[in-house]
Amino acid sequence: MSKDKSEYLINRKDNQYEVVIGLEVHAQVTSESKLFSTSSTKFGAEPNTQVSLVDAALPGMLPVINEYCVKQAIKTGIGLKAKINKRSVFDRKNYFYADLPQGYQISQFKDPIVGEGKVILDMPDGQKEVGIERLHLEQDAGKSIHDLDPKNTFVDLNRSGVALMEIVSKPDLRSPDEVNAYVKKLRSIMRYLGTCDGNMQEGSLRADVNVSVRRKGTKEFGTRCEIKNVNSIKFMQMAIEYEANRQVDLIEEGQSIDQETRLFDTKKNETRSMRSKEDAHDYRYFPDPDLLPLEVSDDFIEKLKLEIPELPDEKKKRFIEKFKLSPYEATILVSDNETSNYFENVIKKSDVKLATNWIIGELFAALNEKNLEITESPISAGNLSKLINLIKDGTISGKIAKIVFENMMEGDKDPKKIVEEKGLKQESDPKALETLIDKVIDDNREKATEYKSGKVKLFGFFVGQVMKVSGGKANPQLVNEILKKKL
Ligand code: ADP
Ligand code: MG
Repeated sequence: MSKDKSEYLINRKDNQYEVVIGLEVHAQVTSESKLFSTSSTKFGAEPNTQVSLVDAALPGMLPVINEYCVKQAIKTGIGLKAKINKRSVFDRKNYFYADLPQGYQISQFKDPIVGEGKVILDMPDGQKEVGIERLHLEQDAGKSIHDLDPKNTFVDLNRSGVALMEIVSKPDLRSPDEVNAYVKKLRSIMRYLGTCDGNMQEGSLRADVNVSVRRKGTKEFGTRCEIKNVNSIKFMQMAIEYEANRQVDLIEEGQSIDQETRLFDTKKNETRSMRSKEDAHDYRYFPDPDLLPLEVSDDFIEKLKLEIPELPDEKKKRFIEKFKLSPYEATILVSDNETSNYFENVIKKSDVKLATNWIIGELFAALNEKNLEITESPISAGNLSKLINLIKDGTISGKIAKIVFENMMEGDKDPKKIVEEKGLKQESDPKALETLIDKVIDDNREKATEYKSGKVKLFGFFVGQVMKVSGGKANPQLVNEILKKKL
């Protein structure tokens, strides 16, 4: 029974199955040095130049916990509205792997530093809450390099020992779209907090994606498969789609699903079995005898709370209440700190409604086209507010403003200067406009007669002609008024 892969679930109208997804996100902690050593964490260095004796796991070396990383994990926990555990334990998770010279990874198992929390998603049909099961600290492994030599594999230990936060969600996600919103929201929260840069190209954020399916209305979850180490949202979505359909196919054929660890092949767009899923006991977890349990005081946590900035959910609420933005506009403008700062700077001196439209519309489109971040915008917040004020006080029309805007994109020039230099000032002198309009009516006598005998649609034609003759500079509102009178 072979089926088109998109036949089920996502695109299927009589869709009887539901996909259930839980994510284990690995977020690299923003920190100068590693979790248990003083080596640098800087991305892109020559292989094996940022490796201490601890990271290389030479016998007898002792790990020393990096307090900054602990603070970062707790801050993230606070951002996830989660329970902070005042006592947590580092365990050894034992496995043999070429890029893990210790032979075990130091992680937290039974007692993670952060417990249950939640993340709110803004979906088109309303908000959705996704539960967080836990957040624990652990070390990253090194990286095997297979493509430098046909016969040998090399290892780069620069990443070995870098601090990761593993953020485990509850199996609350129900579609690739929700996964997209979840990862973006998580990334946004961490970027506001400065605890993870969320850079997926550099591997700062990746996820193990757990997928199961069940018939709609069933209470129990189906058996899950875990797709390892997916490093882009697009790939997560593709992997889920493929995997859900694969599982439905098996069920429809009367087979059962094996709990497995799978890999997503981005070239073939399919998941492949890697190994049968190991259970926790396979790792022989035990508390690392080199490390004491980690204990933090209420005072330590309270001090960190004071460092938490306004986060996206709160900011969104404020934007809606104070500036009367729609939820849609607010969601876009708070998506990252830099954007919301830019917006708040623009509206310091200009109209909120216009600013919102110009940022979300014109500016985003222009930046997108040039592949620029808001922090690299050629138009400063100050100059955008000047442009908006020129529209607001009638100096230029919205249409002319677009021309000025394009000029500003070429370099951060004062819009007033551009308007002066190019003579773009709006014509609002009724006398001058009347002369113009008289001429247009005169040149189009026949159409004017048609209009008078009832062809009211021609009004638009006249407005268009006047605008054209004025080089787009005529004040549209006045043109309308005068034209009505004259015709
Ligand atoms: P493990 O280390 O064995 O993968 P974790 O508890 O760290 O276990 O993570 C399990 C992940 O799988 C969580 O994100 C959880 O939400 C998710 N999950 C658990 N059961 C299911 C299921 N039936 N279908 C989909 N996801 C599931
Ligand atoms: Mg897992």
